[in-house]
Amino acid sequence: MDFVSLSDGTAGERRVALTPTVTKRLVDLGANVRLEPGYGADADLSDALYEKAGATFASRDELLASADVLVSLNPPEASTLRGLREGTIVISFFDPFRRQELVRLARDGALSTLCLELVPRTSYAQKMDALSSQASLGGYAAVITAADRSGKSFPMMSTPAGTIPPARVFVVGVGVAGLQAIATAKRLGARVDAYDTRPVVAEQVRSLGAKFVELDVGETGQTEQGYAKELTAEQLAEQRRQMAKVVAGADVVITTAQLFGRPAPRIVDAAMVAGMRPGSVIVDMAASTGGNVEGSVPDEEVVMDGVRIVGLSNLPGLVARDASEMYASNLFALIQHAWDEEASALKLDPENDDVVAGCLLTHQGKVRDERVAAVLEEGSSA
Ligand code: NAD
Repeated sequence: MDFVSLSDGTAGERRVALTPTVTKRLVDLGANVRLEPGYGADADLSDALYEKAGATFASRDELLASADVLVSLNPPEASTLRGLREGTIVISFFDPFRRQELVRLARDGALSTLCLELVPRTSYAQKMDALSSQASLGGYAAVITAADRSGKSFPMMSTPAGTIPPARVFVVGVGVAGLQAIATAKRLGARVDAYDTRPVVAEQVRSLGAKFVELDVGETGQTEQGYAKELTAEQLAEQRRQMAKVVAGADVVITTAQLFGRPAPRIVDAAMVAGMRPGSVIVDMAASTGGNVEGSVPDEEVVMDGVRIVGLSNLPGLVARDASEMYASNLFALIQHAWDEEASALKLDPENDDVVAGCLLTHQGKVRDERVAAVLEEGSSA
């Protein structure tokens, strides 16, 4: 079975879907791994390393013609999907609620797409959860970026010239990214406050040595999959009102609040930004899904009232080597899970396999995920 991966054309992307380590594991499993020359160059992975792991190289056109499985990190380009044969399996992030044109192309081309955003969040499937592996590294990179942009030292320092108090970091949204952001800021010596609408995370925040900020915004909670329930506009306004003081006292605010399949909630408004000390830094990890912070711009840094708002969307890409290794491991775990040893091939059996059933987005000309199908329907009738 030919497993193909193309060089990623996404601007500024340094991560790769397959690393030499995982290439070798795939080859050992019985797959032919075929790549474009120069595939891993941006992640400092040479063709020689891939070759040693058992990969072969060919032109993009040859690869598309021979692919049984296409693996990718960012959603594949439309021209790539158009170039694949019917029945080809595609494994990738798809951003399925926003990249509707790609879902339609995959459906109409009868491609079987395993969409990594839809991998079920069960203990068994944790090793395949690329959203989590990338969010974790993203949370780390958000803090490192904030420390770099801030004029403030994170740790407390006692020096002959005086004592420097620790930086105050406020993390809003304590999922996978937020937890890693808290842990990283604590390791750097900052004083950390954190808030999430899911009360279950309060204990996790405290166990990392941070303070959980208690706000009363009425009923909040989480879905069966562990995602936050959406607040009403009134609840969000109340959240902003009660949070303004903590935001004003922070040197760094990191926002990670997301709602699965929905635009991100507006957590920090312009008045709250204006209330912060000049020189403070906000990293909006939700900038590309609607923005938690008023004024944040995806992939840009803007200064508003002296406060720097960082909207970089590819934070895991700042630690491309490790992010690639984690992503490739997630891919491998999913492939190994669905691998049929006898046939030495990937076999999708959504009727009997909960993991595949959960993340099989398009198959045999249909969109299988009801939530994505509903968004697609809305898009067609709009
Ligand atoms: P996410 O990226 O969807 O959201 C990030 C955080 O934002 C969440 O904690 C959410 O509660 C929070 N949020 C949403 N609206 C908010 C608001 N108005 N104010 C403040 N915070 C707000 O979430 P995620 O990081 O992908 O994870 C969500 C949950 O799923 C976590 O509990 C995580 O531990 C769990 N999880 C479980 C598994 C598993 O069991 N395999 C895997 C990954 C994550």
